[in-house]
Amino acid sequence: MTVTTRFAPSPTGRLHVGNIRTALHNWMFARANGGRFILRIDDTDAARSEERFVEAIRADLDWLGMTPDGEERQSARFALYEARFAALVASGHVYPAYESAQELDLKRKIAAGRGLPPIYDRAALGLSDEQKSAFERDGVAPHWRFKLDHDAPIAWDDLIRGPQHFEARTMSDPVIRRADGSWLYMLPSAIDDADMGISHVVRGEDHVSNTALQLQMFDALGVAPPRFAHEALLTGAEGKLSKRLGSLGADHFREIGIEPQAIRALLARIGTSDPVEPIADAAPMIATFDFARFGRAPARFDEAELSQVNARILHALPYAAVADRLPAGMDAQAWEAVQPNLVTLADAADWWGVIEGPVAIDTATDDAERAYLDQAHAAAAATDWSNDPWHALTGRLKTETGRKGKALFLPLRRALTGRDHGPDMAALLPLIGRERALARLGARED
Ligand code: GLU
Repeated sequence: MTVTTRFAPSPTGRLHVGNIRTALHNWMFARANGGRFILRIDDTDAARSEERFVEAIRADLDWLGMTPDGEERQSARFALYEARFAALVASGHVYPAYESAQELDLKRKIAAGRGLPPIYDRAALGLSDEQKSAFERDGVAPHWRFKLDHDAPIAWDDLIRGPQHFEARTMSDPVIRRADGSWLYMLPSAIDDADMGISHVVRGEDHVSNTALQLQMFDALGVAPPRFAHEALLTGAEGKLSKRLGSLGADHFREIGIEPQAIRALLARIGTSDPVEPIADAAPMIATFDFARFGRAPARFDEAELSQVNARILHALPYAAVADRLPAGMDAQAWEAVQPNLVTLADAADWWGVIEGPVAIDTATDDAERAYLDQAHAAAAATDWSNDPWHALTGRLKTETGRKGKALFLPLRRALTGRDHGPDMAALLPLIGRERALARLGARED
């Protein structure tokens, strides 16, 4: 069997972290099995779908390194839905219903008043041809329902949730098409999954009851259903379903300096029995990808954890992986000098600014410090800069002044970088170079 997965967002907004996670698992599973990963744009809702979101979805997937092997658009497939729909109407699997929203609401209230579940009573199935014609004459267009087979057992072995069972008679016949002819999500999705040869549907557990309904649609369409994997939903760090997650997308992460590799590394592992590891290369994670490792409990998404993974990934990235995003002139030596101190890649440009200068140096030091820096200036002028100038300089100053530890190093770091903390000075000083170092050590208040 060829594995084919699909990621099926509706282009009514940007992708958020939950969608990205679903896309990632579809992509990883397809890659792990030498299969295909399809982007299906669910844009049957013309009023709410926007082209700019389609473009943003594509751009986000590219940025995340999850470029699809193909793209389909539901809005280009209406002819197919129409044909399948006509066949389902002809075979009695789909029927017209004429109740207004108010009537349906009333029926639900009455059922609730009797302590019954709000299941559609199938009154429309009892309409005579004359009654239907009367509705049409009065200008009442029908909406369309899929007729569930109450006698057919609904069961599947979910790749994450294990064996699942549903009773068709406990569910309403789903509305699949509105009175204005527009499609609801359910039937076109099943038609597409069948028509596109989707082997595995990987999506959030909020779709579990849809799957129960769609399994009967696959049956009615005369096709074998795909396998299903319904993953537990994401929660925020505090363990609750969080509104904020819905607003966290690739654009936000990019803005705050999160690398796509960090997003992948984290979202591949939260909610599974595998630990989160700062693995930049997708290949080893894909190789071990397995739905059996996914838990039933919600996966916790913690932005602080993402930042940590991001930093650890940056600390291991080779120069070649980032060269085109570094400031002009910043070479491999400079990258390696500042790399261990990065939280985001933008910090590299900051440190490059420190190396190149000018740096704002606090010249308001006391007399003793000033004297020490003058001595350091003289020592730096006399130091051999060709080989490890930092150790040469500090060794000399240690002997000359008797200073050690913080008293020896901190005034130098401050004067040379304008900061109290930062990369290893032994790596930084050769990059700052003799000329700039002398100027900074000798800088005085005007
Ligand atoms: N467009 C649907 C959604 O975003 C697709 C669900 C599915 O994967 O079938 O919820």
